[in-house]
Amino acid sequence: MAKKSPWHSTKQSVHHDNTDCNTGNNIERENRREGTGGKPKCQECSRLDR
Ligand SMILES: [Zn+2]
Repeated sequence: MAKKSPWHSTKQSVHHDNTDCNTGNNIERENRREGTGGKPKCQECSRLDR
């Protein structure tokens, strides 16, 4: 279980908070931002967080 502070991509409509999330890990550094961006949590992160 690897939870951390949330981040999101300017190209996606969701945020991530689990370092095991493939989608979250694949965000290019230039598109990556700290925080949720006011976006809902991604489904894979929600599943991994359980
Ligand atoms: Zn995610």
